[in-house]
Amino acid sequence: MKAFQATQVYFDRAADLMGMDDRMRTLLLTAKREVRVQIPVEMDDGTVETLLGYRVQHDNSRGPMKGGLRYHPDVDMDEVRALAALMTWKTAVVDIPYGGAKGGISVDPRSLSTKELERVTRKFVDQIHDIIGPHADIPAPDMGTNYQTMAWLRNQWEKYHGFNPACVTGKPVEHYGAEGREEATGRGVGILAFKLLRRLGKHPRDNRVAIQGFGNVGTHAAKFLNESEFKIVAISDISGTYFRKSGLDIPGALRYAINHEGHLEGYADAEHLAVDELLKMDVELLIPAALGNVITTENVDSIQAKVILEAANGPIHPEADTILEERGVMILPDILANAGGVTVSYFEWVQNLQHYKWGINRVRQELDHVLVTAFEQVWQESHDARISLRTAAYKLGIERVHRATLLAGF
Ligand code: NAD
Repeated sequence: MKAFQATQVYFDRAADLMGMDDRMRTLLLTAKREVRVQIPVEMDDGTVETLLGYRVQHDNSRGPMKGGLRYHPDVDMDEVRALAALMTWKTAVVDIPYGGAKGGISVDPRSLSTKELERVTRKFVDQIHDIIGPHADIPAPDMGTNYQTMAWLRNQWEKYHGFNPACVTGKPVEHYGAEGREEATGRGVGILAFKLLRRLGKHPRDNRVAIQGFGNVGTHAAKFLNESEFKIVAISDISGTYFRKSGLDIPGALRYAINHEGHLEGYADAEHLAVDELLKMDVELLIPAALGNVITTENVDSIQAKVILEAANGPIHPEADTILEERGVMILPDILANAGGVTVSYFEWVQNLQHYKWGINRVRQELDHVLVTAFEQVWQESHDARISLRTAAYKLGIERVHRATLLAGF
């Protein structure tokens, strides 16, 4: 099943409940615009490489379109289309005034020098600058891109259109970025885990947690959960799984990763296991925070967790999702679980448009408010309609986009 087809499965479950006809489904699922551009780039050795860049603008019925920019070898039109649609439902679930978009370049950023990455980014902006901007489509970082990429993007876009830092979010704080943007997705995951387990009548202390991925999202989620007294027994990154039954020393692991270029390889204060052991851990809460499609029909039977919080985008294949649901596993879906990042991106955009800077406490307070409000609405919908949290979240998001589309007229 291709990525877009997978998101459509979840869309259809919610649309069935809404009694939505086929014509409206087609309208809501079809992207407004899909662009593929050629990016010819001069390499440091003087040769020329031709890369492909994509931007999909899915929906703008609720506001300007918003979505990350991914640099990864697997990027293609289907993946970008799926992620753009996810952004539409995500911004609608947390009720921030945006539509959805996504972009990417099919390239392994680790194979390029910093200068080459800068040239690739600037060339890409040359090709798409007239369709992005503060009131049209606002990019942000995603896998393989970061605040430096966003600083280049802003600089190149402003060469065409003049000063306007609201054209992109996830910028460095020195370039009108928001305090708290970097921690936002992981912190949001932590806030929602806390909220969900409280709703289930469990105290953080009684929950063993396993987190797959120790990058931006995984580290900030681990930090927040550790400070909230959860017992994190396993973490993993590309180098393997690190396990300690009595609970890991998370501040120690974070220090280790900072001192080793972000990697856990060689971390000795835990038992070292194979990378795929993490998903099979006997824990109450499992947080996939690395890649998409990591829980499939192949490994779903080995999953022991009772609650899964989707910090990554699309970590569970729809067929595995059905099996887990039948087994009574509670899943907080990506379109809510990792919405903290786009929420603080929204705060950054608001600050840029108003030329007024918020402090970190205000950012954290408002993030908490947005996520907890959305969580309560999804929880209530799930309870009232006796549907999974995923279907409830999709239903809530799709209803908002549907209403806005009808109100605008055709
Ligand atoms: P990142 O690149 O900072 O970190 C990824 C981590 O996953 C790294 O520690 C890497 O070693 C690890 N990893 C890679 N393959 C692995 C494997 N097979 N097993 C275990 N670990 C593995 O990425 P990130 O920004 O933390 O994003 C992680 C996920 O969250 C992605 O799916 C991304 O789309 C999603 N997400 C991120 C944000 C954000 O604000 N960063 C927002 C929403 C969603």
